[in-house]
Amino acid sequence: MVSRVIPVDDFDLVIFGATGDLAHRKILPGLFRRFVAGQIPETSRIVGAARTQMDDGQFRDEAAKAICEFAKVKKNDPRLAQFLELLGYTPIDVKGEGGWKELKSRMRDGAVHAFYFSVAPSLFGDIAERLSGHGIADDNSRIVVEKPFGRDLASAKALNATLAQHFHESQIYRIDHYLGKETVQNLMAVRFANVLFEPLWNAQYVDHVQITVAETVGVGGRGSYYDKSGAIRDMVQNHMMQLLCLIAMEPPYHFDPDAVRDEKLKVIRALEPVLPEDIVRGQYQASGDQPGYLEDAENPDSRTESYVAMKVRISNWRWQGTPFYLRTGKKLRARTSEIAITFKEPPHSIFDDTGAPKANELVIRLQPNEGMNLKVMIKEPGPGGMRLVQVPLDMSFADALGAEGSDMPDAYERLIMDVIRGNQTLFMRGDEVEAAWAWTDPIIEAWEDSKRAPEPYDPGSSGPEEALRLMHRDNRRWREIRS
Ligand code: NAP
Repeated sequence: MVSRVIPVDDFDLVIFGATGDLAHRKILPGLFRRFVAGQIPETSRIVGAARTQMDDGQFRDEAAKAICEFAKVKKNDPRLAQFLELLGYTPIDVKGEGGWKELKSRMRDGAVHAFYFSVAPSLFGDIAERLSGHGIADDNSRIVVEKPFGRDLASAKALNATLAQHFHESQIYRIDHYLGKETVQNLMAVRFANVLFEPLWNAQYVDHVQITVAETVGVGGRGSYYDKSGAIRDMVQNHMMQLLCLIAMEPPYHFDPDAVRDEKLKVIRALEPVLPEDIVRGQYQASGDQPGYLEDAENPDSRTESYVAMKVRISNWRWQGTPFYLRTGKKLRARTSEIAITFKEPPHSIFDDTGAPKANELVIRLQPNEGMNLKVMIKEPGPGGMRLVQVPLDMSFADALGAEGSDMPDAYERLIMDVIRGNQTLFMRGDEVEAAWAWTDPIIEAWEDSKRAPEPYDPGSSGPEEALRLMHRDNRRWREIRS
């Protein structure tokens, strides 16, 4: 299968924070890969901007190093030299007035203008204000903003209001890189391009849904940053909420940015408040010479969760009575992200076999090994009666799509190309982000008001015992965390 690479229009992309970790690890390597794929016109320009004093040549050297490391390319690859020709650099402290004139002189008439805010959110306002104040951005420019988009409803509203002073909503691209993942988009294809699943996609046939994002790493290195956030802010309010929306939403009338985002918003608004007994927070403990969360966070009194599991209910016709169980954590048994839809058992069994599990399950794996797996019941082969066995219809995208499947664009690559194309479907709208915070805030506030300590869990485990009980109480079980 050969994927069609449709080149984007000629563009000038400015990366604020071009000397930072995200630019080095994701943005520059991603742009390079799209260039190699033939998607980026050779006339396009990519301008780095940050406070560090550098000229174009020094920035190209720095970018080359990052691309070699993170896009796994050799230093002498001729395509790297071609790509570096596109790069330039303008030193700017975005809090000051210097450098903006030079930046403006680099922008060409007729090209798409995009500005990537790969800096701390506290600088978003400075950049937005100066881009418009210096006449660099206009009504056709696009801005890309990174997470975290606020830390509660009030700060998200303030951020939206600041950006809205200078840009229309149609110009603002709020990144949630989960939405750029191939499988996440496939979720929509599976649901809305097949007749097979949609009739069963409701509380009448779905027993429950599990969404798991498990990591093996701890918070070491960015512990003090993470400690101000925790799993709910870092994962649930954004990434997991987006996954939940794509599973639960009604079919949009068209695959169009506002049609899709309208439907996601309706899901968020239909979320019921989470009851205190339906949520479990955990912190990983020390093990051997491995520090525990409290040491990693450098805060011996921290109550911030490195793990959370919760039962979420959606109050609408489609999902009334079907719980969604969400869990995410650090230092767990394996690194995996998946969505599992467990269907109800057949209403009546004509077979005597009582041992085998009976419920069909559709598992959508986001990482590792993106793919889908549908568990169906068949007869166990061989003579000797009618015994049933559950087998997986397993589709790994890498296997199914051959070379194309194993070389899928990284989420950032796809999303940046969508910005240039002017397609906002896979970006969060301002009202969506605010609605997500409006649901999350009371959960966080209730915890802050309570005196409870997080449940301890062992590194390499599946999380705290309490989280297992959350499921057992409902006569259900978490899926095993494995890669
Ligand atoms: P970082 O490594 O700390 O980089 C920050 C960048 O901002 C640097 O290039 C820094 O360059 C620049 N900067 C700081 N103050 C500035 C100023 N006054 N004027 C101009 N430039 C300034 O941060 P990061 O990890 O790349 O993250 C960037 C953003 O992406 C943050 O909002 C973060 O939350 C978000 N994000 C990051 C990741 C990730 O994997 N890293 C993932 C998701 C979201 P100078 O020091 O040279 O000025």
